[in-house]
Amino acid sequence: MAKSRFEYVKQFELEDPLLPHCWIVIRLDGKGFTRFSELHNFKKPNDEQALRLMNRCAVEVLEAFPDIRIAFGESDEYSFVFSKTCKIYGRRSSKLVSLVTSCFSGNYVRWWPEHFPSQPLLCTPIFDGRAVCYPTDHILRHYLAWRQADTHINNQYNTCFWALVHSGKSRTEAQDHLKGTQTAYKNELLFSEFGIKYGLLPVMFRKGSVVTRSRRQKTVKHAEDGTAVQREGGEVTVTHEDIIDDAFWETRPDILM
Ligand code: ATP
Ligand code: ATP
Ligand code: MG
Ligand code: MG
Ligand code: MG
Ligand code: MG
Repeated sequence: MAKSRFEYVKQFELEDPLLPHCWIVIRLDGKGFTRFSELHNFKKPNDEQALRLMNRCAVEVLEAFPDIRIAFGESDEYSFVFSKTCKIYGRRSSKLVSLVTSCFSGNYVRWWPEHFPSQPLLCTPIFDGRAVCYPTDHILRHYLAWRQADTHINNQYNTCFWALVHSGKSRTEAQDHLKGTQTAYKNELLFSEFGIKYGLLPVMFRKGSVVTRSRRQKTVKHAEDGTAVQREGGEVTVTHEDIIDDAFWETRPDILM
């Protein structure tokens, strides 16, 4: 194709490939969801439907991008882990971040009515996105452990905070009451004051959501001769397992392969 005299401007576009042989984590986070969750009457501390909508969007992202091995979500955030050897879009950071973020945001709007049939969407949900490279399996596991530990810390705090608020304390009083308190104190407060056994709260609230592909093989017909062939199932599923524990990784060695 003939080049125009304007073509030189293309040179200003810089390459932004992510490091080879590293795990790529794309993390999204809802912009201003403190306000968004109030505007849309999310139940506090945890709106189950809002979490299920986030999970639905994550499933769509894994279906759109086969190079994603695992995703972890909590609150208004989701982390997607691309395989360390994937070559998708030349591992260009801006391509990956923008495609994953817009895939997620578009699906959030698309599937909103199914999760909130009687709550109209009153403003446009938007998400930020970033890419981070992790050079070893060990550090990647620590990244995911960090997010799941965060889920627990936030959930425990928020459960106490909203129990105090629902019992008549102001938000400032509830905040002051919890300032500097430890895990053991918070568990005791929940149980003795409000009769809540932390360990019995729904596992999705305590552990967040883990999205993976099943390893189950499925039989498909060969495109040319119609013979039966075994394929990786690849069915995308959401669980709420403990991913800090070694046991998870021992039963799913395929994820880090
Ligand atoms: P930023 O734009 O900096 O991310 P933010 O207001 O989104 O600001 P976050 O730190 O991301 O702040 O916190 C997310 C907020 O959204 C929290 O206030 C949390 O309570 C609320 N939120 C997200 N998901 C839910 C949910 N499922 N149920 C109830 N509240 C939720
Ligand atoms: P990629 O994912 O690489 O961007 P693409 O199919 O989106 O692939 P583009 O080079 O971005 O390719 O071209 C956009 C395509 O969308 C073209 O084929 C163009 O004809 C079509 N398209 C976009 N907007 C319109 C429109 N308003 N009317 C008709 N066709 C459109
Ligand atoms: Mg934030
Ligand atoms: Mg946010
Ligand atoms: Mg957040
Ligand atoms: Mg295009």
